Amino acid sequence: TGDSDAPAAGQDPTGCTGHPRQDLVRLDAIHKSFGHHEVIKGVDLRLHAGEVVAIIGPSGSGKSTLLRCVNLLEPPTEGRVTVAGVTYEAGKPCPRKDLARLRRAVGMVFQSFNLFPHLTVLRNICLAQERTLGRSRDEAEAIAMQLLRRVGLADKAHQYPARCSGGQQQRIAIARALALGPQVMLFDEPTSALDPELGLEVLAVMRELAEGGMTMIVVTHEMHFAESVSNRVMIMADGVVVEEGPSASVMRNPQTERGQRFLHAVK
Ligand code: ADP
Ligand code: MG
Repeated sequence: TGDSDAPAAGQDPTGCTGHPRQDLVRLDAIHKSFGHHEVIKGVDLRLHAGEVVAIIGPSGSGKSTLLRCVNLLEPPTEGRVTVAGVTYEAGKPCPRKDLARLRRAVGMVFQSFNLFPHLTVLRNICLAQERTLGRSRDEAEAIAMQLLRRVGLADKAHQYPARCSGGQQQRIAIARALALGPQVMLFDEPTSALDPELGLEVLAVMRELAEGGMTMIVVTHEMHFAESVSNRVMIMADGVVVEEGPSASVMRNPQTERGQRFLHAVK
C-alpha cells in the first residue's frame, strides 16, 4: 500500500474494474504500434474532473493517436486506460459492458465534423441519443434544442448540415457529442479545417464549456487557446511527452530544448 500504481484491493484480474478512482482519466505507460511502427512510446496522463489539458506538438508526433487511445478508438498495444472508474488494460479481456461504459463516458469532436448530410441538424443530434441511450424522440429533441441554444444555433435545427458554415457544423458536432452526457470531451484540432474567423466561434463554445467545468483534452494548434483556456499543456514529439506543466509556464517559459524549439517555430 502507499503505492498508487498497485491495483486497488479486489481488482478484477481481467484488468477491468468498476472501482471509482480519483482521476477521471488516467493513462498509464501507453504504447501504440501500427505493425512495427511504434507511434506512442510510453505516455502517462492524469486528469481530474474539471481539468482542461491541451496537447500540442509537431505533426506526426502521435497526438491524434493518443487521443484515440483514451476512448479506445485505437486500443493501446501496451499500458492501461482508466476513464470514469473503468480500466482497460492492453492485451487483457475487457467485458463488453465495461467497454461500452468507458466509451459512453467520452465524447469526441474531430477536425472533420462528420455530420450526416441526409439528416437535419436536429436529427443529427438525436440519432445516437435514441439508438445508444434509448431516449424517446421527444426527450432527445428537447435535449437537442437545449444544446443548440447553448451553442447559439437553435434557428438551424431544421436545416441540413450543408446549409451551415463550417463553424456552425463544428458547433453542431459539439452539441451532438454533449447530448450523450459525456464526462470528458476530446477535441482533435477542432478548428484546423476552418477559416480563422469561423474557428473563433468554435473556440468560444469550447471556452464556455471549459468554464462550465467540463473535463477536456484538446489537441490544438491554437496557441492562444492552449495558454488561456487550458490548465495544463503537454508538448508531444515523436511519440513521447517532451514537456508538461501549467499552461502559462509551459507556453511562456518552456524548460526543454525540444519544447522551446517547437514553440519558437509556431509562435
Ligand atoms: P499527430 O496527430 O500528432 O499529427 P498522429 O497520431 O496522427 O500524429 O500520427 C502519428 C504517426 O502514426 C504518424 O506517423 C502516422 O502516419 C501514424 N499513424 C497514425 N494512424 C495510423 C494508422 N491507422 N495506421 C498506421 N499508421 C498510423
Ligand atoms: Mg492529428
